Amino acid sequence: MSSPESGATDARENPPVRRVSDWDAERLRGLAAEYETPLYVQDLDRVRENCERLLAAFPNADVRYAVKAHTGRAVLETVRDAGLDAECASAGEVDRALAAGFDGSRLHYTAVNPPARDLDYVVGVAEAEPDLTVTVGAADTLDRLAERGYDGRVCVRVNPGVGAGHHEKVTTGGAAKFGIPYDRAAEAARAAAERFDVVGIHAHAGSGIDPEQLDSHRELVARMGELARDLAAPGAADDDAPASAAPLDLEYVDVGGGFGVPYEEDASPLDLSAVADATREAVAPLPEGVDLAVEPGRYVVADAGVLLTRVNTVKDTPDETVVGVDAGMTDLLRPAMYDAYHPIRNLGGASGESPVEEREATPVTVAGPICETGDTLGKNRALTDPVRGDLLAVGVAGAYGYEMASQYNSRPRPAEVALDDGTAAVARRREALGDLTTVEREADRDRTDRPEGDR
Ligand SMILES: *Cc1c(COP(=O)(O)O)cnc(C)c1O
Repeated sequence: MSSPESGATDARENPPVRRVSDWDAERLRGLAAEYETPLYVQDLDRVRENCERLLAAFPNADVRYAVKAHTGRAVLETVRDAGLDAECASAGEVDRALAAGFDGSRLHYTAVNPPARDLDYVVGVAEAEPDLTVTVGAADTLDRLAERGYDGRVCVRVNPGVGAGHHEKVTTGGAAKFGIPYDRAAEAARAAAERFDVVGIHAHAGSGIDPEQLDSHRELVARMGELARDLAAPGAADDDAPASAAPLDLEYVDVGGGFGVPYEEDASPLDLSAVADATREAVAPLPEGVDLAVEPGRYVVADAGVLLTRVNTVKDTPDETVVGVDAGMTDLLRPAMYDAYHPIRNLGGASGESPVEEREATPVTVAGPICETGDTLGKNRALTDPVRGDLLAVGVAGAYGYEMASQYNSRPRPAEVALDDGTAAVARRREALGDLTTVEREADRDRTDRPEGDR
């Protein structure tokens, strides 16, 4: 964990990854004692470092944080101060980004099958913030925007026909759900320009670009560069634009996010400058005045977060030792949903036990309290002999962690503390049992508030 005085972040002090073993065990035990478990800890200093590495690797590009990875207010404010824009996937995310101080010129709303309520809201926001951009992946959505009187900034989302991702559920680049098919994108963008201010083109291949997948990233980027050139100078290349097509005055080519982080302890971190070089090389030469844009989500927040959970049961069975903890798939869904690996470290702390460094490592399954077989945080993990009362740190949990938490099994969502310059503050309070029934009680109240005859 960074010390309070580590404001500066040259390469030496800003490593490409923070492992679960790099966190200060004493500090984490203190936080768990003070705020109880399960507890998310999000270090804003590390979020800042991640932003700085991205900005340094992509100096002339627009870097947009995909806020769905972590929408906490403190994180959004940190990212805003660091100079990134916000990429939002829903009305709720736009609302949060506005509240965190992003103005319209730094807001990008990506409309994926947008519900009417979301479009109504965003069109309303655009009246006050006309510099906001709506990224659209279907001709139909353009009609729905026009019906609402919107004629502002639009970016055309393209389905590049290439996907990358750590799991099929997050490989979006080739799925028909996302974007306008590549072969029709130029025509769609030109048609859109008759009704809207078309400022960009966009593609997102999916989540989990890693060193082995740089080729498909390169291919996506190259296609997008080609499309931008066609749109800027119709007919110049061998595209089949009508001779009469007007050139589009694009501001950017957005090649999406998906920058991977190493979850396994021995996986190497993404070589960000290699990705940046590959991106610039593949997209070039962009028409005059057209910038590159990227949209990392996970990369900004993943290794800035850990989930702390307490061991409550240790069960030796003939097959394996099951370590029961107080966090499960309702707190961290990724292992159950994506078979995702998260590193787990035993921080010890059980009273009357020997320090964790002096214990033997044993392979265990770490399981949560939910009635689902899939509710494990890790299988066959060599943890230093966990005993009841020990504290475990589940690492690289800052992205899609709290965001995907639910109240399934009537489990209140965990608390989250944010560390800022070493100082802890509650960012999201722990939910209480009463929070589970708020909406029911409010519905009851609304019903009984109405006159007898209306019920
Ligand atoms: C989810 C998403 C991202 C970010 O993906 P990461 O894997 O978290 O980097 C970027 N752009 C769009 C459109 C997305 O949906």
